[in-house]
Amino acid sequence: MFSDELAKISWDDTTKFIYSRTEADVRRALAKEHLNVEDFMALISPAAEPYLEQMAALSRKYTLERFGKTISMFIPLYITNSCTNSCVYCGFHVSNPMKRTILTEEEIVNEYKAIKKLGPFENLLIVTGENPAKAGVPYLAKALDLAKPYFANLKIEVMPLKSEEYKELTEHGLNGVICFQETYNRANYKIYHPRGMKSDFEWRVNGFDRMGQAGVHSIGMGALIGLEEWRTDMTMMAYHLRYLQKNYWKTKYSVNFPRMRVAENGGFQPNVVMSDKELAQLTFAFRIFDHDVDISYSTREPAFIRDNMATLGVTTMSAASKTEPGGYYSYPKTLEQFHVSDERTVDEVVEALKKAGREPVFKDWDATFDHCTME
Ligand code: SF4
Repeated sequence: MFSDELAKISWDDTTKFIYSRTEADVRRALAKEHLNVEDFMALISPAAEPYLEQMAALSRKYTLERFGKTISMFIPLYITNSCTNSCVYCGFHVSNPMKRTILTEEEIVNEYKAIKKLGPFENLLIVTGENPAKAGVPYLAKALDLAKPYFANLKIEVMPLKSEEYKELTEHGLNGVICFQETYNRANYKIYHPRGMKSDFEWRVNGFDRMGQAGVHSIGMGALIGLEEWRTDMTMMAYHLRYLQKNYWKTKYSVNFPRMRVAENGGFQPNVVMSDKELAQLTFAFRIFDHDVDISYSTREPAFIRDNMATLGVTTMSAASKTEPGGYYSYPKTLEQFHVSDERTVDEVVEALKKAGREPVFKDWDATFDHCTME
C-alpha cells in the first residue's frame, strides 16, 4: 500500500531538498527524456523559474506528441451535498446548517437531460459529498445505471470505497474514479479533516491502491493547493503516481491540482497561495515528468489561464460546471461547494479552444474501446 511507501519519505527533508535545487539540477532534468522524482523536484523548485519558456516549449512538444491537439471535455454533476465530514475549507462540511439535497432518481435524470442540452458531453463526472448511509454504493450504482443511456464514459468523485465496491460499480458502467488526497502532509492532515471518515489519512491515501486492485480503468489523483507547501505536496503526488503506475500499469492516470478559493462558509483562507506563474511551472513540470498523464483543469481556474494552458500541457477540461446539486436543471439554488471562475457557456469555451488551435473532444474513445471485447 502506498502509505507504507509514504512513511519512508520525510516531508521536511523533501521540502529542504526542493529548495536546495540549483540551475544545474534544472538543466540536467531538462536534458533528460525520462525523468525521476528528483528531476521533477528541480523543475518545480524556485531555481527553475528562469527556465519557464524552455519548460513551456518542452511541455507543448510532449503534449502534442502524445495527445495531438485534442482537449477532452467533461462535466461534473453534484448529485448530493449531504456530507458527514468536516473539512475546514469546504462549505458542505457537516456543521454548516444548510439545506442538504440528495437528488431523487427523477431529479438525477433531469440533470442528465439538462446537461445534454448544454453540449454534446459524453464524459460525466458524478460527484457527491461523503454520506455512505444516505448516498452510498447502491445510490451511486443507480445513478450510474440511469446515466448509461446519456453518457459513454462515467467517472465518480465520491468517498473512498472498498476494492469490492469499486468493482461492483464497474459492473454498473463505472470507468474512472477521481479522488483528492487534499494534502499528503500526514502530520497536518487532521487539522483540515478533524472528524468523519475523511479524517482517516491511511484509508484515503490507500484508496488509490484499492481502485487499482479493482481494475478501475482510469484513476484521477489530486491535491488541493492552499493547504500545505505546494511543492512538497506535488512531489508526494509525483511519488504516488510513479508507485501506482508501477503496481497498476494497465490503468490510465490523471492529475489535478486546483487552487483553493474562498469557501462559502467564509471561514477558511488558503495557507499558501500559488501564483499563475507557479501554476504554469507546475503544469509544465508534470508534463515533462510524465508525457502520458492527463492534466486536468477545472472551471475553478479563470478563462484566460485555461485557454493559454490548453496549448501548453493541459489535456482535460470541464466546462459550464455547476457545483450545487440540481444546478443544471431549474431547481431552487442551493449552496455551491465553491465558486467557479470560468463561467463561460460550453459554446464559448469550445470557440476559445478552437481559436487557440485546439480540438475539444466530447467523447472519450479510449473508454469506448475499453468496453470492446476481442472475438
Ligand atoms: S470537501 Fe468533500 S468530504 Fe469534505 S466537507 Fe466538503 S463535500 Fe464533504
